[in-house]
Amino acid sequence: MKAASFDYARPRDLGEATRLLAQAAGAAKALAGGQSLGPMLNLRLARPALLVDIARLESLHAIADGGDHWLIGAGVTHARLEDASGALPGAEMLCHVAHGIAYRAVRNRGTVGGSLAHADPAADWPLALAALDATAEIAGPKFARRTPVAALMTGAFTTVLADDELIVSVAVPKASPQARWGYYKFCRKPGEFPDASAAVVLDPARKVARLYAGALDGPPQALPALAAAAAAGTVPSLDDIEAALAPVARGLDDIDRRLHAVAVQRALKQAIAR
Ligand SMILES: Cc1cc2nc3c(=O)[nH]c(=O)nc-3n(C[C@H](O)[C@H](O)[C@H](O)COP(=O)(O)OP(=O)(O)OC[C@H]3O[C@@H](n4cnc5c(N)ncnc54)[C@H](O)[C@@H]3O)c2cc1C
Repeated sequence: MKAASFDYARPRDLGEATRLLAQAAGAAKALAGGQSLGPMLNLRLARPALLVDIARLESLHAIADGGDHWLIGAGVTHARLEDASGALPGAEMLCHVAHGIAYRAVRNRGTVGGSLAHADPAADWPLALAALDATAEIAGPKFARRTPVAALMTGAFTTVLADDELIVSVAVPKASPQARWGYYKFCRKPGEFPDASAAVVLDPARKVARLYAGALDGPPQALPALAAAAAAGTVPSLDDIEAALAPVARGLDDIDRRLHAVAVQRALKQAIAR
């Protein structure tokens, strides 16, 4: 199938991009790497009247050292983060996660902002950046705002973003040298979205213990009691993890719940062993 016809605009800056989105009043879509939107257009799951191409906006491409955090532009591709391995002290998990997304052709074009905005429940960045306690900077035609990435996604393929808002960047707190993290996902085939995933960050120097389960029906879910246990050096049993998952992942059958519990346990073991 081919995409339905649409108009195309390539704004010169962020202000023009958000103005175009606002003028279209919900009939326009931003185009970043096109790795999710492209297939949706071709399958006619998305039929925008206008595509606002933000892929070349320089202001979305920065990777900057903000002192206690790394600022990652929304237009930064997965491949750039993968290739930054060794160059982002305190944010090593970003490079690891980027390396595990799909395959290189997708990573060359897919962006952090596109992944967050698309809000696929199984996507890597909503999970990893929630565990890292990242904050998204969002720009609209009139004002800018910030929101924790953990609160950005509200359900499967839905976010708090208004039709005329764009994610500009994410601020990722730098981990201390003592920090430990784990990231584990089950993919049936290499390069495919995971069936279960989990991310954990333990950083006692910053009083951080965050654990999220991903690839559920909606947004990644926090498991704070298990994170606290892990911070004290305990790896919870699979039964305990299943019990913790039960209230936040009600739609899972027995097999899926076990799969998610194993993903969580393996992420915790990675963090504790690291
Ligand atoms: C074969 C394949 C396998 C994949 N496997 C994985 C995987 O294992 N894990 C994973 O995480 N992802 C996976 N992906 C998805 C990939 O990571 C995409 O890059 C990502 O989901 C979307 O990023 P994009 O830049 O291509 O966005 P686009 O496709 O251009 O846009 C996606 C959506 O986000 C909106 N958008 C884009 N940028 C912004 C912004 N800055 N602000 C607001 N809205 C914006 C668009 O309007 C659109 O609605 C896979 C994709 C493919 C094709």
